[in-house]
Amino acid sequence: MLLFDAHCHLDKQFFQQDIDSVIQRAVTAGVRLIVSDGLSQKTNEEVLALSGQFDVVRPALGLYPVEAAKMTRKEIDDAISFIGSHAKDIVSIGEVGLDYKEETDKGLQQYAFRKVIQLAVKTGRSLTVHSRKAEQDCIDILKEEKAKKVIMHCFSGKKRQVQEILDNGWFLSIPTNVVFSTHFQEMVKMAPLSRLLTETDSPFLGPLKGEKNEPANVVHSIKKIAEIKDLEPEEVANILWKNAQELFLSV
Ligand SMILES: [Zn+2]
Repeated sequence: MLLFDAHCHLDKQFFQQDIDSVIQRAVTAGVRLIVSDGLSQKTNEEVLALSGQFDVVRPALGLYPVEAAKMTRKEIDDAISFIGSHAKDIVSIGEVGLDYKEETDKGLQQYAFRKVIQLAVKTGRSLTVHSRKAEQDCIDILKEEKAKKVIMHCFSGKKRQVQEILDNGWFLSIPTNVVFSTHFQEMVKMAPLSRLLTETDSPFLGPLKGEKNEPANVVHSIKKIAEIKDLEPEEVANILWKNAQELFLSV
Protein backbone atom coordinates (compact mmCIF):
# COMPACT_ATOMS: atom_id res chain seq x y z
CA MET A 1 0.00 0.00 0.00
CA LEU A 2 1.17 3.54 -0.78
CA LEU A 3 1.03 5.36 2.53
CA PHE A 4 2.07 8.79 3.76
CA ASP A 5 2.12 10.88 6.90
CA ALA A 6 1.15 14.44 5.95
CA HIS A 7 2.06 15.93 9.32
CA CYS A 8 4.26 14.93 12.23
CA HIS A 9 7.04 16.19 14.48
CA LEU A 10 10.07 13.91 14.38
CA ASP A 11 12.00 16.30 16.64
CA LYS A 12 15.02 15.18 18.64
CA GLN A 13 13.11 16.03 21.78
CA PHE A 14 10.66 13.18 21.05
CA PHE A 15 12.65 10.80 18.83
CA GLN A 16 16.20 10.91 20.05
CA GLN A 17 17.19 7.25 20.41
CA ASP A 18 14.63 5.53 18.24
CA ILE A 19 14.56 7.59 15.03
CA ASP A 20 16.14 4.84 12.89
CA SER A 21 13.67 2.19 14.01
CA VAL A 22 10.71 4.61 13.71
CA ILE A 23 11.65 5.37 10.08
CA GLN A 24 12.31 1.67 9.39
CA ARG A 25 8.92 0.62 10.74
CA ALA A 26 7.23 3.30 8.61
CA VAL A 27 8.99 2.21 5.42
CA THR A 28 8.22 -1.45 6.14
CA ALA A 29 4.55 -0.55 6.61
CA GLY A 30 4.53 1.07 3.15
CA VAL A 31 5.00 4.73 4.08
CA ARG A 32 6.59 6.52 1.11
CA LEU A 33 6.44 10.09 2.38
CA ILE A 34 6.71 11.59 5.86
CA VAL A 35 6.24 15.35 6.14
CA SER A 36 7.90 16.52 9.35
CA ASP A 37 6.81 20.02 10.41
CA GLY A 38 8.86 22.63 12.23
CA LEU A 39 7.36 24.95 14.81
CA SER A 40 10.25 27.31 15.59
CA GLN A 41 13.72 28.23 14.34
CA LYS A 42 15.23 25.33 16.30
CA THR A 43 12.80 22.69 15.06
CA ASN A 44 12.86 24.11 11.51
CA GLU A 45 16.60 23.54 11.44
CA GLU A 46 16.15 20.03 12.85
CA VAL A 47 13.57 19.20 10.18
CA LEU A 48 15.96 20.30 7.42
CA ALA A 49 18.74 18.16 8.88
CA LEU A 50 16.48 15.13 9.27
CA SER A 51 15.25 15.34 5.68
CA GLY A 52 18.90 15.26 4.60
CA GLN A 53 19.39 12.11 6.63
CA PHE A 54 16.35 10.10 5.46
CA ASP A 55 14.98 10.22 1.88
CA VAL A 56 11.45 9.42 3.00
CA VAL A 57 11.33 12.49 5.27
CA ARG A 58 10.44 15.75 3.53
CA PRO A 59 10.56 19.08 5.33
CA ALA A 60 7.83 21.57 6.17
CA LEU A 61 8.99 24.77 7.84
CA GLY A 62 6.65 26.74 10.03
CA LEU A 63 6.06 29.12 12.86
CA TYR A 64 3.72 27.88 15.58
CA PRO A 65 1.16 30.56 16.53
CA VAL A 66 1.96 30.36 20.24
CA GLU A 67 5.64 30.94 19.37
CA ALA A 68 4.77 33.88 17.11
CA ALA A 69 2.79 35.49 19.94
CA LYS A 70 5.99 35.69 22.00
CA MET A 71 8.00 37.41 19.25
CA THR A 72 8.32 40.97 17.95
CA ARG A 73 7.14 41.77 14.42
CA LYS A 74 10.77 42.02 13.35
CA GLU A 75 11.51 38.53 14.75
CA ILE A 76 8.44 37.18 12.97
CA ASP A 77 9.60 38.77 9.70
CA ASP A 78 13.04 37.19 10.13
CA ALA A 79 11.57 33.75 10.90
CA ILE A 80 9.39 33.96 7.80
CA SER A 81 12.23 35.10 5.56
CA PHE A 82 14.19 32.04 6.77
CA ILE A 83 11.28 29.87 5.60
CA GLY A 84 11.18 31.81 2.32
CA SER A 85 14.89 31.26 1.76
CA HIS A 86 14.22 27.49 1.88
CA ALA A 87 11.07 27.56 -0.24
CA LYS A 88 12.64 25.33 -2.88
CA ASP A 89 13.66 22.67 -0.35
CA ILE A 90 10.33 22.29 1.41
CA VAL A 91 7.07 20.51 0.55
CA SER A 92 4.81 22.63 2.77
CA ILE A 93 4.74 25.70 4.98
CA GLY A 94 3.72 24.44 8.39
CA GLU A 95 2.93 24.22 11.09
CA VAL A 96 1.29 27.64 11.06
CA GLY A 97 -2.11 28.99 12.06
CA LEU A 98 -3.89 30.41 15.07
CA ASP A 99 -4.31 29.11 18.61
CA TYR A 100 -6.54 30.94 21.07
CA LYS A 101 -6.58 28.21 23.71
CA GLU A 102 -4.30 30.15 26.07
CA GLU A 103 -4.36 33.90 26.49
CA THR A 104 -1.79 35.21 23.96
CA ASP A 105 -1.36 38.15 21.61
CA LYS A 106 -3.91 37.43 18.86
CA GLY A 107 -2.70 40.42 16.84
CA LEU A 108 0.81 38.97 16.55
CA GLN A 109 -0.54 35.52 15.73
CA GLN A 110 -2.67 36.96 12.94
CA TYR A 111 0.21 39.10 11.66
CA ALA A 112 2.41 35.99 11.37
CA PHE A 113 -0.39 33.91 9.85
CA ARG A 114 -1.11 36.46 7.09
CA LYS A 115 2.59 36.72 6.29
CA VAL A 116 3.06 32.95 5.92
CA ILE A 117 -0.06 32.67 3.80
CA GLN A 118 1.31 35.37 1.51
CA LEU A 119 4.58 33.43 1.29
CA ALA A 120 2.72 30.22 0.42
CA VAL A 121 0.73 32.00 -2.30
CA LYS A 122 3.90 33.55 -3.73
CA THR A 123 5.92 30.31 -3.71
CA GLY A 124 3.12 27.88 -4.62
CA ARG A 125 3.74 25.78 -1.49
CA SER A 126 0.97 24.09 0.43
CA LEU A 127 0.07 25.40 3.88
CA THR A 128 -0.39 23.13 6.90
CA VAL A 129 -2.76 24.94 9.25
CA HIS A 130 -3.33 24.53 12.99
CA SER A 131 -6.57 26.13 14.20
CA ARG A 132 -7.25 25.48 17.87
CA LYS A 133 -10.17 27.47 19.31
CA ALA A 134 -9.67 29.83 16.34
CA GLU A 135 -11.33 27.90 13.55
CA GLN A 136 -13.46 30.65 12.05
CA ASP A 137 -10.69 33.28 12.19
CA CYS A 138 -8.40 30.83 10.39
CA ILE A 139 -10.94 30.21 7.66
CA ASP A 140 -11.71 33.92 7.26
CA ILE A 141 -8.05 34.96 7.03
CA LEU A 142 -7.25 32.14 4.59
CA LYS A 143 -10.12 33.35 2.40
CA GLU A 144 -9.09 37.01 2.64
CA GLU A 145 -5.54 36.14 1.66
CA LYS A 146 -6.78 33.90 -1.18
CA ALA A 147 -4.87 30.87 0.09
CA LYS A 148 -4.69 27.78 -2.08
CA LYS A 149 -3.40 24.25 -1.38
CA VAL A 150 -4.61 24.54 2.21
CA ILE A 151 -4.38 21.56 4.57
CA MET A 152 -6.47 21.93 7.70
CA HIS A 153 -4.65 19.65 10.08
CA CYS A 154 -6.56 17.84 12.85
CA PHE A 155 -9.51 20.21 12.44
CA SER A 156 -11.82 20.35 15.47
CA GLY A 157 -14.37 22.87 14.22
CA LYS A 158 -18.06 22.51 13.54
CA LYS A 159 -19.68 20.70 10.62
CA ARG A 160 -20.62 24.02 9.06
CA GLN A 161 -16.92 24.99 9.07
CA VAL A 162 -15.89 21.61 7.64
CA GLN A 163 -18.31 22.32 4.81
CA GLU A 164 -16.78 25.78 4.34
CA ILE A 165 -13.32 24.17 4.07
CA LEU A 166 -14.59 21.78 1.41
CA ASP A 167 -16.42 24.58 -0.45
CA ASN A 168 -13.14 26.48 -0.69
CA GLY A 169 -11.38 23.50 -2.27
CA TRP A 170 -9.13 22.87 0.73
CA PHE A 171 -8.03 19.59 2.33
CA LEU A 172 -8.63 17.90 5.67
CA SER A 173 -5.80 15.94 7.23
CA ILE A 174 -7.20 13.13 9.36
CA PRO A 175 -5.23 12.09 12.45
CA THR A 176 -4.80 8.49 13.58
CA ASN A 177 -7.22 8.95 16.46
CA VAL A 178 -9.95 8.64 13.80
CA VAL A 179 -9.95 4.99 14.91
CA PHE A 180 -11.91 6.03 18.03
CA SER A 181 -12.88 9.70 17.52
CA THR A 182 -16.47 10.10 16.29
CA HIS A 183 -15.64 13.72 15.39
CA PHE A 184 -13.10 12.61 12.78
CA GLN A 185 -15.27 9.70 11.66
CA GLU A 186 -18.06 12.20 10.89
CA MET A 187 -15.58 14.38 8.99
CA VAL A 188 -14.54 11.41 6.85
CA LYS A 189 -18.22 10.76 6.08
CA MET A 190 -18.72 14.37 4.97
CA ALA A 191 -15.63 14.77 2.79
CA PRO A 192 -14.92 13.17 -0.58
CA LEU A 193 -11.74 11.06 -0.65
CA SER A 194 -10.26 13.57 -3.09
CA ARG A 195 -9.97 16.03 -0.16
CA LEU A 196 -8.57 13.79 2.56
CA LEU A 197 -5.05 13.18 3.80
CA THR A 198 -3.67 10.99 6.58
CA GLU A 199 -1.41 12.27 9.34
CA THR A 200 -0.17 11.14 12.73
CA ASP A 201 0.94 14.42 14.38
CA SER A 202 3.54 12.13 15.99
CA PRO A 203 4.41 11.89 18.81
CA PHE A 204 0.91 13.14 19.69
CA LEU A 205 -2.64 11.88 19.06
CA GLY A 206 -1.92 8.16 18.83
CA PRO A 207 -4.44 5.49 17.90
CA LEU A 208 -3.54 3.68 21.13
CA LYS A 209 -4.03 5.89 24.15
CA GLY A 210 -0.87 6.49 26.17
CA GLU A 211 1.52 5.25 23.46
CA LYS A 212 3.85 7.51 21.50
CA ASN A 213 2.51 7.91 17.99
CA GLU A 214 4.70 7.27 14.91
CA PRO A 215 4.29 7.52 11.11
CA ALA A 216 3.73 3.75 10.59
CA ASN A 217 0.36 4.19 12.33
CA VAL A 218 -1.23 5.87 9.29
CA VAL A 219 -2.15 2.36 8.20
CA HIS A 220 -4.78 2.32 10.98
CA SER A 221 -6.36 5.48 9.56
CA ILE A 222 -6.50 4.06 6.05
CA LYS A 223 -8.29 0.96 7.36
CA LYS A 224 -10.79 3.07 9.29
CA ILE A 225 -11.43 5.44 6.37
CA ALA A 226 -11.92 2.42 4.08
CA GLU A 227 -14.42 0.96 6.54
CA ILE A 228 -16.37 4.25 6.69
CA LYS A 229 -16.38 4.65 2.90
CA ASP A 230 -17.07 0.93 2.33
CA LEU A 231 -14.04 0.50 0.05
CA GLU A 232 -10.87 -1.58 0.02
CA PRO A 233 -7.95 -0.03 1.98
CA GLU A 234 -5.76 -0.30 -1.12
CA GLU A 235 -8.21 1.77 -3.14
CA VAL A 236 -8.43 4.46 -0.43
CA ALA A 237 -4.64 4.57 -0.11
CA ASN A 238 -4.22 5.11 -3.86
CA ILE A 239 -6.68 8.01 -3.97
CA LEU A 240 -5.16 9.71 -0.93
CA TRP A 241 -1.67 9.23 -2.34
CA LYS A 242 -2.72 11.30 -5.37
CA ASN A 243 -3.82 14.09 -3.03
CA ALA A 244 -0.45 13.97 -1.28
CA GLN A 245 1.37 14.14 -4.60
CA GLU A 246 -0.67 17.14 -5.69
CA LEU A 247 -0.01 19.01 -2.44
CA PHE A 248 3.55 18.05 -1.60
CA LEU A 249 5.34 16.62 -4.60
CA SER A 250 4.12 18.60 -7.59
CA VAL A 251 5.86 21.87 -6.71
ZN1 LIG B 1 1.43 19.31 14.75
